[in-house]
Amino acid sequence: MAKMNLSHKFKELVNLLKLSATSKSLRLGKTIHAQLLVCNQTSKDSGITQINSLINLYSKCGQLEYARKLFDRMPQRNVVSWSVLMVGYLHKGDVLEVLGLFRNLVSLDSACPNEYIITIILSCCANGRRIQEGKQCHGYLFKSGLLLHQYVKNALVHLYSRCYHVESAMQILETVPGNDVFSYNSILSALVESGSRGEVEKVLNKMVDERVSWDGVTYVSMLCLCAQIRDLQLGLQIHAQLMKTGLVFDVFVISTLIDMYGKCCEVLNARKHFDDLQDRNVVAWTAILTAYLQNGYFEETLNLFTRMELEDTHPNEFTFAVLLNACANLVALTYGDALHGRIVKLGFKNHLIVGNALVNMYSKSGNIDSSYSVFSNMIYKDVITWNAMICGYSHHGLGKQALLVFQDMMSVGECPNYVTFIGVLSACAHLALVQEGFYYFDQLMKELNIEPGLEHYTCMIALLGRAGQLDEAENFMKTKTQVKWDVVAWRTLLNACHVHRNYSLGKLIAETVIQMDPHDVGTYTLLSNMYAKARKWDGVVKIRKLMRERNIKKEPGASWLDIRNDTHVFVSEGSNHSESTQIYEKVQELLAMIKPLGYVPDVGAVLHDVEEEQKEGYLSYHSEKLALAYGLMKIPPPGPIRIIKNLRMCDDCHIAVKLISKVTNRLVVVRDANRFHHFRDGLCTCNDLW
Ligand SMILES: [Zn+2]
Ligand SMILES: [Zn+2]
Repeated sequence: MAKMNLSHKFKELVNLLKLSATSKSLRLGKTIHAQLLVCNQTSKDSGITQINSLINLYSKCGQLEYARKLFDRMPQRNVVSWSVLMVGYLHKGDVLEVLGLFRNLVSLDSACPNEYIITIILSCCANGRRIQEGKQCHGYLFKSGLLLHQYVKNALVHLYSRCYHVESAMQILETVPGNDVFSYNSILSALVESGSRGEVEKVLNKMVDERVSWDGVTYVSMLCLCAQIRDLQLGLQIHAQLMKTGLVFDVFVISTLIDMYGKCCEVLNARKHFDDLQDRNVVAWTAILTAYLQNGYFEETLNLFTRMELEDTHPNEFTFAVLLNACANLVALTYGDALHGRIVKLGFKNHLIVGNALVNMYSKSGNIDSSYSVFSNMIYKDVITWNAMICGYSHHGLGKQALLVFQDMMSVGECPNYVTFIGVLSACAHLALVQEGFYYFDQLMKELNIEPGLEHYTCMIALLGRAGQLDEAENFMKTKTQVKWDVVAWRTLLNACHVHRNYSLGKLIAETVIQMDPHDVGTYTLLSNMYAKARKWDGVVKIRKLMRERNIKKEPGASWLDIRNDTHVFVSEGSNHSESTQIYEKVQELLAMIKPLGYVPDVGAVLHDVEEEQKEGYLSYHSEKLALAYGLMKIPPPGPIRIIKNLRMCDDCHIAVKLISKVTNRLVVVRDANRFHHFRDGLCTCNDLW
């Protein structure tokens, strides 16, 4: 009688163990473990089932060392003992331990792995993308007949798909009977990831033949494909089909639908389906934020985030990356800074995607030092991280630093790609390193098998132009007949002609640019500047007439700067600001301060210039001068003044800001239409070439 009670009690305890394992309650599990120890002392019988349950408990609760100890001490083990421990290691991501256990198991004569163990091994190989071990397993399955188990077969198909051996996966579908939706989903997701649309169609047809209907995962894969290849028509068809299923309430499926509409430039459609969604989670919110971001609605992205927070949905690392990218595009440094603070507080800062977005945000918002500080503190870096830093430095005209980061990248063995070389070549262009630039372009890119694109060719024009080798640059454009040169490339050469005062070539190039883009205001301005500087007034008149005839109006010059949370906008000669009088006085004061340093207003060119903004007398009140004056009034030293300007800075403002940076001992960062200028101690990082 007593014995029966005891075995009953064991059973009960083992059941409780199972419960605490599933609910991952380690503390409860440990209490039961203690009780078992007490009972075992009287019965001297601790069966395999009992220990297996304990191993299961400790594995599930992540206490693998303890589980392993129990396993190692077992005098006898069965298949379950092996499998519970393997699952523990599998969930921990310890691929080698799982494979090691499996090797030990098959080396025992008595043991014979069942379909359950095989599935664990196949998942493990899939997770670790270990195709060799997977193939050995496949061989074993072939002999043992275990492949006829549906989930073994699916695990094998999944393994081959994960490792991009889609042909082998297909072969299994063709030869082993009874395919279900899980078998197909693995293959589809692999095909979608590699973007093979034709193959996807074949698989879909096969599904129709075998009357296998789609589930949520299939829809997600297919919508991803539409998003990837930007095929709205296909997307609409799939959406129509989706409407007939119960999956319209599945937040993950709908999130993919939102993403698809966003990628196909259908923001309103994306928004509609988002609004219809009953319970939105962070995935759905991030999908709609991404849709706004990708379609250029940066402010709306940030506004929508405010609503997300009001609805009490917590952002994750992907949300933060989207928000930071919106800030980067808006040059919203203050907002970006605030996000950075929250990211640190919430513990997201070590996510690669967040780090990359921070590096990008800081460099695009003009704070290249913070960009570098995030970059150098990142634990993990990928090629995107390196590219963001190299291109960031290049964009700021800090060519030397860009090339140093590139050297570091090479020395840690990260492989540069297409984008890397855009940054590297433009760094060479800033520094006029013709030889080095051509080495990267002609040799290194070839060695790395990177086909140069228009961006790289344009960098080479900028490089030759910067070095003053204008004829070589023109020649380069003429001889590279395979390149389809665009307006940007020609304008790069035109800029170089302007900077190096080669007006005869400049005029020819300008005609070409105007032919390609008759509404390019900047080119008319440059052309008329060149005529004025060469004192060819009839040319100036001709351009002015041409602009009138073509109804081309210059965008008024505007600059803005953020002070705390307020954005202040300044229009050239404008008196829209409430403190206009004080600002104008401050400008005069600053100009008086730099006169002793040799500042003379650049009036000569102004007299005959068509730029509205450059009329005599108004030169002093260009928007960036007003913004700078206001910044110096409001931002206490030594804080830097960061200004954004819609047009290219004029020569006069450039000289003035350089000297003001010297007399006030301040860092002034101006982002104009072309680039970033860092003014410090009377110098600018663009070396006066922009
Ligand atoms: Zn100016
Ligand atoms: Zn500059």
